[in-house]
Amino acid sequence: MKIVLFDIDGTLVKAGGAGVRALNKAIKEICGVSDVCSKLSWQGVTDKANFDAAFRQARGRKPTAGEARKIGSLYVKHLPVEIIVSIKEKNYTRIKGVEKLLKKLSKYKSLLIGLGTGNLKEGAFLKLEPSGLLEYFSFGGYGCDSRHRCDVLRKAVERAEKIIKTTIKPGSVFVIGDTPMDVSAAREAGYHPGAILDGFGDAREIQKSGPEILTKNFADIKPWLLWLGLERDPKGVRRGTYICPDSPIEHAHYGSTGLDLKDVEDGLKALRALKRKIARG
Ligand SMILES: [Mg+2]
Repeated sequence: MKIVLFDIDGTLVKAGGAGVRALNKAIKEICGVSDVCSKLSWQGVTDKANFDAAFRQARGRKPTAGEARKIGSLYVKHLPVEIIVSIKEKNYTRIKGVEKLLKKLSKYKSLLIGLGTGNLKEGAFLKLEPSGLLEYFSFGGYGCDSRHRCDVLRKAVERAEKIIKTTIKPGSVFVIGDTPMDVSAAREAGYHPGAILDGFGDAREIQKSGPEILTKNFADIKPWLLWLGLERDPKGVRRGTYICPDSPIEHAHYGSTGLDLKDVEDGLKALRALKRKIARG
């Protein structure tokens, strides 16, 4: 059984800054300070860490446990309205090709699709609901599980293990995100990291973080199916030389999964057969 974990913000959808506005409102209500979030960086950080940073920006200290809970509940209270604002202003979008990929992945019985997100569970569902993508996810790891992305991913896998009632090897887990934090968290847990460039991550930093596969978005799902080992490359392309079209990154390197040697052999056989056929006319 394979597990694929998707990040939400910038990987499945872009909620047009709804989360930031909801957190700004929450901090304003508690601390009386406006627009704290404009001074902070959000790339790939979990909600709890964001809440702490925003509170610290306003008050100069860590929130108490009670204050942290209050921020969380106010954030979730304001989030739906802010999502509606984003939708009305046409700033709520799905990442290109993501529905096609999820639809395809949902057909494989040997694969379980889950969330691996820094969003609180409620926030995750609120952000995903308008996208129509929620139906593809049966479990997840969330920002309420931990401040650390790596533990969020581990928690998701733990939940998957409960669903299928069997242990999942780290090498069978694939994580798809849009920031270097997604990549490093996956690697820390021993999972396979994959990333896209159309999200919120800095392209150069993502490239440096070294995901096993990197494409612009999911417009072409083929490289992703190869990476997940669900399809074989008919051209028999060797590992580490697969070129992803539409991407400023020339080479996406398959790690220990993707294409195994048997795939390459089969591909070469198919290619030779094709050549023979052409030669015969
Ligand atoms: Mg993200």
